[in-house]
Amino acid sequence: MVHFVGAGPGAPDLITLRGARLLENADLVIYAGSLVSPALLSYCRESCRILNSAEMTLEEIVEAMQKAEERGETTVRLHTGDPSVYGAIREQTERLDALGISYDVTPGVSSFCGAAAALRAEYTVPGASQTVILTRMAGRTPVPERESVAALAAHGSSMAVFLSAGMLEKLRAELIRGAYSDETPAALVYKASWPEEKCIRCTVGTLAQRAEENGIQKTALVLVGDFLEGGPERSRLYDPAFGTEYRERKDQG
Ligand code: SAH
Repeated sequence: MVHFVGAGPGAPDLITLRGARLLENADLVIYAGSLVSPALLSYCRESCRILNSAEMTLEEIVEAMQKAEERGETTVRLHTGDPSVYGAIREQTERLDALGISYDVTPGVSSFCGAAAALRAEYTVPGASQTVILTRMAGRTPVPERESVAALAAHGSSMAVFLSAGMLEKLRAELIRGAYSDETPAALVYKASWPEEKCIRCTVGTLAQRAEENGIQKTALVLVGDFLEGGPERSRLYDPAFGTEYRERKDQG
C-alpha cells in the first residue's frame, strides 16, 4: 500500500499524528527533497529506505513504489504542505490505479496556512475579503489565461501566490493589471515554520526590492490583500447584537 502524506510546511511537529504514525511504520519513504524539511525523516525507522524524489522522474518514483509493493512493503510518499495543492499527485495516482496498487491520502497543513500563522493573520477579515485565492504565476508550467494573476486580482480578494518568488516584478505588473495598486499590503513569507523562517511585510510595489534585500528567490509565499492590515468591521459571529443557534442576542444599551 502507498500512503500519500502531507508533511506540513516544515516544522516536524506540524505533520498530523496520522502522518507521523505512517512515517514510523514505513518501509520506504519517497520525499520531496527540494521542499520537505529533512527533520521530518527523524520519524522513520532506522531500516526504512529513503529516496529523494527531487532527483527522480515520475517513472522512477512509480517503479520504486511498484517494487516495494511486490515485496509486500508499505510506502509513504511525503509531499510538502498538503498533497492536494501543487503536489503533482494526480499523475502518480493514475499510474497506481493502472497498476492496481492501492493508496490513500493523509492531508497536511498547507504552507498558505503556515504563512498566515507566521504573520498571525486571518485571510477572511470581515470588510476586507471573504475569499482566499490560491494561485501561481505561469512559469515553465503554464496557467490557463482565464486564471491569470491579473484576472484573479480583479476580485480584490486575499491572495496566496505559490511558486512565484523568483518573478516578483512580473507578479507586481499582473497584480496591478488586476485590481491592486503599488500601495496594496503584501507580505513575503520564506520557509514558514522552518528555523530560518522570514516574514517580510511590504506592499505590492516593494515586493521585488524587499525580496532582493533578504535574498529570497524560492520557498516563499507571496500574500496580497487588505487582510494584512485588518478590516474596518468586526465579525458578526461574536457580535453581542447578533444572535446565533448557540447564543442569544444581547442588546447593549
Ligand atoms: N503542497 C504545498 C505546495 C507545493 S508548491 C503546500 O500545500 O504548501 C511549492 C511552493 O509552496 C513553494 O514555491 C512556495 O511558494 C510554497 N511553500 C512550500 N513550503 C513553504 C513554506 N514552508 N513557506 C513558504 N512557502 C512555502
